[in-house]
Amino acid sequence: MTSIVGDRGRRLGFLMPKTGIDIPRTATRGEEPSTMIVTLSPDAPASTTNELIATAGSLGLAASYLPFDGGGGVLGVDGSLPADVLTLPGVSTSRTNHKPYMLASREHRTASVVRIGDVSIGSGVPVIIAGPCVVEGRNELIDAARAVKAAGATMLRGGAFKPRTSPYAFQGLGEEGLRHLAAAREAIGLPVVTEVLEPDQVGLVASYADMLQIGARNMQNYPLLRRVGGANKPVLLKRGFSSTVEEWLMAAEYVLAHGNPNVLLCERGIRGFDAAFRFNLDLNAVPLAKELTHLPVIVDPSHGTGRRSLVGRMALAALAAGADGLIIEVHPEPDLALCDGSQTITPAELAVIHRRALTLVDVLSDEPAWLVPAPNGELSVIA
Ligand code: PEP
Ligand code: MN
Repeated sequence: MTSIVGDRGRRLGFLMPKTGIDIPRTATRGEEPSTMIVTLSPDAPASTTNELIATAGSLGLAASYLPFDGGGGVLGVDGSLPADVLTLPGVSTSRTNHKPYMLASREHRTASVVRIGDVSIGSGVPVIIAGPCVVEGRNELIDAARAVKAAGATMLRGGAFKPRTSPYAFQGLGEEGLRHLAAAREAIGLPVVTEVLEPDQVGLVASYADMLQIGARNMQNYPLLRRVGGANKPVLLKRGFSSTVEEWLMAAEYVLAHGNPNVLLCERGIRGFDAAFRFNLDLNAVPLAKELTHLPVIVDPSHGTGRRSLVGRMALAALAAGADGLIIEVHPEPDLALCDGSQTITPAELAVIHRRALTLVDVLSDEPAWLVPAPNGELSVIA
């Protein structure tokens, strides 16, 4: 690691994997470095953005730019920019007392939409991602994909590289599983999401998948987060089952800060004390994450309960809590599934969830204003 001495004391450099360039980051010993978030309006000229980034660079500060969908964007700087550049045309706000997840924060911006091919997540229509826990074979996956599509799913899930608790359990088909996912996409026309376990697998998995899943066990695997930050595929970031909401959002911040603006959060249950459930689906976290960040939030009621009898109701509860979509384990014959059969439902059950979800979302569509997260990152106070 290179030691870079700047105007804010002793600093350490670290390697940004996307570019391979040694980018100076502030890490002043003994104190938390102050960081700055600068918001640019949609009409901000490119010269302003360039000048802000150049000024940061000349001060030895790292800057990450996250453009907004409708123009403008937000610049996160790991230090403070001088006052004169903050009056350039198009700079709408600058703050140093912001949330630590400055790029993920909802402060000064509206909700973002993640697009995977024709599928939009966060646009108001709940998205259902479904499929087996693990890819079992080419024909099995194509049959499952056909069935979940007919039941209302618009994306296919399936693990090729599996993070299993036991080293003796089936670890997935690896690259062969990725080929089956690509074959199912071609045959059935659903984009696919699959888990990537290791930094060195990111290129391989991204060459087959439409979205990269970071599993709960890897939520704080920072080398992996940095690497998917440099990938050109959206990232589905599952919450670690012992992680706080803030740790989850900081994990998303890693991906954003390393250059990938397409991050989707997934609540999948946390550890509770009661062995009646595999995990406890933490639906508090859904409206909170939507209040604090602009990122879409989906829910996994399969892992979040561990019981197939609970999946349907908790799926609907998740949508009532404001989730932008669901990821559900579905298998044509759940009892024969090679992994997680006890929490897996049938395509027919998924079709029921889909129908009820559409009715529910319709009922909930005229939400009172006080329930809608405001761009300042808070819910308005109930009068
Ligand atoms: C999965 O989606 O199959 C999975 C392993 O999920 P999690 O990382 O949430 O346990
Ligand atoms: Mn599973």
